[in-house]
Amino acid sequence: MTEMTQRQKYDLKRTIEELKHCKGRHTELISLYIPPSKQIFDVVSYLKNELSESQNIKSKTTRKNVLSAIESIMSRLKSFKQSPENGLIFFVGHKSIGSDQTEMVQFVIEPPLMIHTFLYRCDSEFYLEPLEDMLSEKEIYGLLLIDRRECTIGILRGNRVELLKYMTSQVPGKHGKGGQSQRRFERLTEIAAHEWFQKAADKASDIFLEHEELKGIFVGGPGPTKQYFVDEEYLHYEVQEKIIDTFDTGYTDEFGLRELVSAAAETRTNLKISKEKKLMKRFLKEVTKTDNSLSVYGEKQVRKALEMGAVDIVLLSENLRRYRVKLVCPTCNYSEYKTLKEEDLEDFEPSNCPKCKTPTQLELEEKIDLIDEMSDLAEKTSAEVEIISLGSEEGDSLFSAFNGIAGILRYPLNFE
Ligand SMILES: [Zn+2]
Repeated sequence: MTEMTQRQKYDLKRTIEELKHCKGRHTELISLYIPPSKQIFDVVSYLKNELSESQNIKSKTTRKNVLSAIESIMSRLKSFKQSPENGLIFFVGHKSIGSDQTEMVQFVIEPPLMIHTFLYRCDSEFYLEPLEDMLSEKEIYGLLLIDRRECTIGILRGNRVELLKYMTSQVPGKHGKGGQSQRRFERLTEIAAHEWFQKAADKASDIFLEHEELKGIFVGGPGPTKQYFVDEEYLHYEVQEKIIDTFDTGYTDEFGLRELVSAAAETRTNLKISKEKKLMKRFLKEVTKTDNSLSVYGEKQVRKALEMGAVDIVLLSENLRRYRVKLVCPTCNYSEYKTLKEEDLEDFEPSNCPKCKTPTQLELEEKIDLIDEMSDLAEKTSAEVEIISLGSEEGDSLFSAFNGIAGILRYPLNFE
């Protein structure tokens, strides 16, 4: 497998965030990457060696912590006859939890993409680079806007538009004073325009050549100038070769970058951003309908619709950062579900049981990321899930205007 599902990407991203938070008090956090080609018994003998080397660690607590981390990995490895399809990763060690206290953490990850290199590292933080590389965006396009007055250079990374350079020209307007000097004026203007195009092209070439990974370049601007610029091959030939198409935009500034991406997404429907834009447009169109609207939004409503099997597509903002928790009364077994924000969870104060009224407090029994929970719920009725990141117009509006949770229904519902 070379492609991850949205869900896998999301889960990996969250795991990385969690791992990043773990800090050791000393060099006592172990990261171990095992590629599928590596025999488990080879890994075990490698660890045995590390175990005896670690006896020499001077600090007593560090030594104790490192030894117990290695032993813990060795014992977990026993349950694997061979490395899984994509390999195996261990992150084990004592993380600091403040005031000289530590807590043992153990992550065993079967990565969604294959690991190629064996790696053992003991440090005060986990080594995450190979995991982060799996997440790095592969859909990268260059964006170039040009007319006689402005040039904007940017990059489309997945769904995100980045502005890299904005330049303005000194080219005078097309119309001079008229009369005898008109031809001379025009000639000077053309020279100035040529110089401007060359200057903009040089800058764009420099920037785009630095991004070898560009899958292509979209060029935009108002009127015929951009096409002239492309046809005259102002850009470096390697950059020139990457031009996919030109598009009409009203602007040549930062706003124009978004116009260009929208225009490209319309025609190039295999672009990642195209699907997102299409779905959000469909949703927004439904929102404005007063009768038989197929839109639903807000966690409560979407959840209800999902439980009814009425949802076709769920749209979830990647930045929700919420958890679904199950609270249970230890006395009478009463239970309830709640959705909490990440920060609410950190200083969570459980309430008294509403059923048995004994002054026992509800206990937190389960905790699951809301996106995972909603995705599971969607799966039960074969609703499609689209996880939408911030950084695009659509993603931002889902997050800010609809609380990050929305859906397109299979049939209209009445929630009154
Ligand atoms: Zn109770």
